[in-house]
Parts: sequence; structure tokens; C-alpha cells
Amino acid sequence: MTAIFINVEVDQSVAGDPELAKKLAEVCPVDIFKPGASGVEIVEENLDECVLCQLCMNAAPAGTVKVIKLYDGGAVLGAS
Ligand code: SF4
Repeated sequence: MTAIFINVEVDQSVAGDPELAKKLAEVCPVDIFKPGASGVEIVEENLDECVLCQLCMNAAPAGTVKVIKLYDGGAVLGAS
């Protein structure tokens, strides 16, 4: 299934970090992240459940996790 409303991007510089993968899996209330063999994995079928809480962005180094509002012309959550 392809997400319609939300996309999440994790920067290559941190995507392979197993500790970050665990942390993101813990903080996201709707299980969009999971720790995988290659680090942070995105659970595509949960993307549209995103509640825009920004917990993932706060848990990761600044600017490395982007929540993109596809329904809003690709606006990035938290960007001014
Ligand atoms: S903003 Fe909240 S719900 Fe959305 S991906 Fe980040 S932690 Fe999960």
C-alpha cells in the first residue's frame, strides 16, 4: 500500500544507526519506524496514521527526520 497523506524521510547520515532506529520505534505512537537489519526502516502501511506529533523529529539529530505532508503540497512538518 502506498501512503497518500504522509511521507517520512530519514537522512542517510543517520538511517543506519541501530540506536536511533530503536529510539524512533519507541517514540512514534503509530509505529511508523522499526529497527531493521540496515537501521531505521519505515513501515509504509502506517505512514498515513501519522499524528504530526514531531516526537520523531525531536528524537533524532536536528533536520535528519522529515515528515512531509503530501496532502499539503509536500510541506515539511515544523518548517516555517
Ligand atoms: S510525527 Fe509523530 S506520528 Fe508522525 S512519524 Fe513522527 S513520531 Fe510518528
